[in-house]
Amino acid sequence: MRILIAEDDSSIAEALQFALTLVGYAVDSVGDGAAADEALKNQGFGLCILDLGLPKLDGFEVLRRLRRRSGAIPVLILSAREKAEDKVMGLDLGADDYLAKPFSVNELQARVRALLRRGQGGAPVVSYGDLSFDTVGRTASLNGRTLPLSLHETGVLEVLLQRFGRVVSKDQLVEQLYNYDHDVNHNTIEVYVHRLRKKIAGTGVAVRTLYGRGYMIDYAAQ
Ligand code: CA
Repeated sequence: MRILIAEDDSSIAEALQFALTLVGYAVDSVGDGAAADEALKNQGFGLCILDLGLPKLDGFEVLRRLRRRSGAIPVLILSAREKAEDKVMGLDLGADDYLAKPFSVNELQARVRALLRRGQGGAPVVSYGDLSFDTVGRTASLNGRTLPLSLHETGVLEVLLQRFGRVVSKDQLVEQLYNYDHDVNHNTIEVYVHRLRKKIAGTGVAVRTLYGRGYMIDYAAQ
């Protein structure tokens, strides 16, 4: 899952990026509102953490433009100003949640999980066959036994499960799993899928390769 952080205070941006990367999200960070507006036009982000006080365009304007384009991604507003009218205005403009600075990283991570879960229908655990995926802890298990997946394998599984029974192209996987800084090619994705496939053998679901199109997770053939 890719997350965009729009925050001009570099120490906060770095701390957020570190904390979210650590738990397996692909995180990009921009330092002004114009860059945030551009990034939200072009990239496949699953969530935006948006500071209100940004240079060039403030957070309200970034949000207004996003929603005017019918951009539906969840937005979590950060503000140094704990003013009731800011919160009301942000929510009225289409923000999904609001967090006043200073905040704890644990609280931020919990709110991010809640927002992403909402987008997945609200269920914290999804099950297909004997495979269960906990979207909060981001762990996969087979009949209650946790599968030893790496962060990248978990990321691939998460993206495929969000589109269960539908094709996901390698480009879409790359886009969801990596931020701007990573130079990743399709071969890397193939390696992760190969390892994931072995680890989820016996769960009743399997990752299929559709040559020239991508991958699809579906119930395994009997
Ligand atoms: Ca700021």
